Amino acid sequence: MKKRKIMGIFAHPDDDTFGPGGTFAKYAKAGHDVHILTATSGQAGRAAGLPIQTTLGEHRKKELKDAFSIMGVQYSRLLDFYDGTLCEHQIPLLQHFILEEVQKFQPDVIIIYERNGISLHLDHIAVTKSVITLYDAGKIAVPKIYYFGLPHEVMSFFGREGGLGNEKRAIIDIKDFLDLKIKAMKSHLSQEKDWKMIIERGEVLKKQKKEYVDHEYFQLARTSLTNLAFPESDLLAGI
Ligand SMILES: [Zn+2]
Repeated sequence: MKKRKIMGIFAHPDDDTFGPGGTFAKYAKAGHDVHILTATSGQAGRAAGLPIQTTLGEHRKKELKDAFSIMGVQYSRLLDFYDGTLCEHQIPLLQHFILEEVQKFQPDVIIIYERNGISLHLDHIAVTKSVITLYDAGKIAVPKIYYFGLPHEVMSFFGREGGLGNEKRAIIDIKDFLDLKIKAMKSHLSQEKDWKMIIERGEVLKKQKKEYVDHEYFQLARTSLTNLAFPESDLLAGI
């Protein structure tokens, strides 16, 4: 097996874990390098159980480190943007740092949240837009960029619009990494309310169709490769 590099680029600590955490754990366990770039330290998030909101960013940095060690993420960088501020005027600076990290790490695959940021969070959308804009401008060269998200049928099951379409889909089996993902999620102590909700939703979904819980879903956003066959079961297929 040739060692490959997978890079996740996200807005907040926990976006990686609560999102494609099983996939990161799976590829790390298989011996590939996983790098996570996080734009903010999530200072504006929930501060469950913490005495002072102002220290939240520091707590979340530690929680993120714990989650990384559980998932086997070897490389990470946390930028200093303030949570909730990744609006238009921050994008050039955000792109500068993304470009710097991508050039340094030279990933084979980049994973970002889907176009609507899954939850329509503006920080999520800003990160996704920044990566795609850099790629389309020819500034970053990477064989594959994937959107991570929930399949549209899962979104509509929960009464929400959007989600990933069926085209160019990659479905990663994370059955053997589900326990690890949940353990990493729980290391985000301050975000207990969120991971409890995700676990509860997983239980509801399991009764409906278990495979949605045992898999993580992606859609190929950009590629320099040809002759790819879909649906894929490996993000490294064709590389
Ligand atoms: Zn987030």
